[in-house]
Amino acid sequence: MSKSIESMRQDCKDARSALARAREGQYALGAFNLDNQETLIAVTKAAVKKNAPVLVEISHGEVELLGLENVRDMVDNYKAEFGVEMYINLDHSPSVEAAKAGIDAGFEFIHIDISQANHDATEEDIINCTKEVVAYAKKTGALVESEPHYFGGGSNRFTKAFDYAEIKKTFSTPEGARAFVEATGIDTYAAAIGNLHGSYPVPKRLDLRLLQEVRNAIDCNISLHGGSGTPGHYFEDAVKIGVGKININSDMRVAYRTTLEQQLKENKTEFAVIKLMDKVIDAVQEVVESKIDSFGATGMAKPSIR
Ligand SMILES: [Zn+2]
Repeated sequence: MSKSIESMRQDCKDARSALARAREGQYALGAFNLDNQETLIAVTKAAVKKNAPVLVEISHGEVELLGLENVRDMVDNYKAEFGVEMYINLDHSPSVEAAKAGIDAGFEFIHIDISQANHDATEEDIINCTKEVVAYAKKTGALVESEPHYFGGGSNRFTKAFDYAEIKKTFSTPEGARAFVEATGIDTYAAAIGNLHGSYPVPKRLDLRLLQEVRNAIDCNISLHGGSGTPGHYFEDAVKIGVGKININSDMRVAYRTTLEQQLKENKTEFAVIKLMDKVIDAVQEVVESKIDSFGATGMAKPSIR
């Protein structure tokens, strides 16, 4: 069901103040990827238990399978049922049209990333598309996130370690960040400081000194993609420097799949798959709870929603 424009604007206003509260209070909102309803249940239960504000997010593949309106409705239903403070992020929308559709569906956070679909997109293309989405987002007040580069990695579990020297070449620079924010008018800058999509056999390393330089160079919100597999102490420091949003996907997917495989192995004669899902949900919930703790967001849900 479509939401009224007034209700979308109120949601976006609340989302803006949630991110401002996070920045002021030196914690970050977790943005947790949804694969399906079970993942949404896991995030909701974690948000209730931790009394934390959270974002759920879907990328293009999930948009195509689940549908923007269905996800909006499901999230609104869970918000009403459990009283959680929850917002939706459209993650890595590959085109201006896809981003506009997310705004029209009432998503509070919109990440425009045309370089995901076209790794050769020029900075000029990226700036122009981002500006168009920023202008369109005025309709609801949605927060727009972008970056002037392609993020490495992928949302999967990799068996090979990444090459830190190669990754370093794609890091943000304070000057580049300032120029991009000024050129586009975005609300949130997605920084690249050692964060990387995917799960790897070696832990990730965040360059916190560079993060501080980027923080000093720009005044808008800062997000970190590819938060999975990062030791928690990095997040504790990153939120103090001023990161307000951290995306988590792979750690949840690994917990989901490994627990599901275990359940299938242990229950070979059970065909009501729903009966196997409680443990899967618990495992994903546990990941989400531990991230909420590392991000410092425990107990930070908006008082009126508690
Ligand atoms: Zn990402």
